[in-house]
Amino acid sequence: MFGLIGHSTSFNDAKRKALELGYDHIAEGDLDVWCTAPPQLVEHVKVVSATGKTIEGAYIDSCFVPEMLSRFKTARRKVLNAMELAQKKGINITALGGFTSIIFENFNLLQNKQVRNTTLQWERFTTGNTHTAWVICQQLEINAPKIGIDLKKARVAVVGATGDIGSAVCRWLSNRTGVAEILLVARQKQPLIDLQKELGGGSINTLEDALSNADVVIWVASMPRTLEIDSSKLQNPCLMIDGGYPKNLDEKFSGNGIHVLKGGIVEFFKDIGWSMMELAEMEKPQREMFACFAEAMLLEFENCHTNFSWGRNNITLEKMDFIGNASLRHGFSAVGLNPNIQAAVV
Ligand code: NDP
Repeated sequence: MFGLIGHSTSFNDAKRKALELGYDHIAEGDLDVWCTAPPQLVEHVKVVSATGKTIEGAYIDSCFVPEMLSRFKTARRKVLNAMELAQKKGINITALGGFTSIIFENFNLLQNKQVRNTTLQWERFTTGNTHTAWVICQQLEINAPKIGIDLKKARVAVVGATGDIGSAVCRWLSNRTGVAEILLVARQKQPLIDLQKELGGGSINTLEDALSNADVVIWVASMPRTLEIDSSKLQNPCLMIDGGYPKNLDEKFSGNGIHVLKGGIVEFFKDIGWSMMELAEMEKPQREMFACFAEAMLLEFENCHTNFSWGRNNITLEKMDFIGNASLRHGFSAVGLNPNIQAAVV
């Protein structure tokens, strides 16, 4: 059995969903009430792969909402309680979705193996970052040529280059895609220097310089909502792959030649018959999902019950190949640019 731990995109969405599900007492509560609400297993689902294999899974809502991010103890408790529930339900492999994997890593929850009388078994959980990184690279390779970008001559900026997903994307760009130049962007200097050394190339850039020089920008950092970007300084054409969470780049960029693509999203080859993606603002919630969620399904399809993506900067090209091949075999494809936009370009 696979599991997905997720959360609503906002407090208001969470309240709406709770009402729909009949949890009226929680729905009517304020944020303090929600801070004490336990995780809920809200949906069971059966999924049949393109190979014909059937697996079962469950969606656990952590009852976390982004408005709780500044409440350290609450955020920590929400993630650990949801993991405890997944383990108690006997789920083999569970993906930590949305902010939950970031909370796990940033708040160093590895130190919290004991939750009440449950000892968490890390091998039952995955961040899903290997599949997310592979999907973002696919989205780049498939969509850039469609809007007239020749990747062999292209400058590709990776914003969040030193992160878990960002560093994997850089490794792939450098060893597999073969772009003209990788522009590395993050706030701290030393990890950038270390990454540049590991890659044997790439140039370290400020965000401003990278944006004005890049043909493709891969965003794998959660950027502040207040970030202002002058679209007139971007290259034309420019492909923006919005791999961060929340996905809010299309609000920031507009103009001729700028194409924003939701990064790290996959589409299954047929409807799944679940309702869990409706609140995640997917265009086709019956078959689209975050690539990190899909990783838990893939590991279950492959009988690979291990914490496949874990810790920071451990994603290898071999692991990306493994999960990428499984993704294609079981019927997932990376979400691409809207075909109407491409038609207008060509
Ligand atoms: P990490 O915390 O490992 O990495 C974050 C990276 O972003 C670091 O390089 C960090 O470096 C950089 N960064 C953070 N803030 C800024 C900033 N203001 N300007 C420039 N760089 C910045 O995160 P992950 O790799 O695990 O995840 C990256 C993003 O991908 C997250 O937003 C996450 O939510 C999202 N994600 C999306 C998924 C999907 O859509 N399917 C699935 C999983 C994750 P520094 O601190 O030095 O700036």
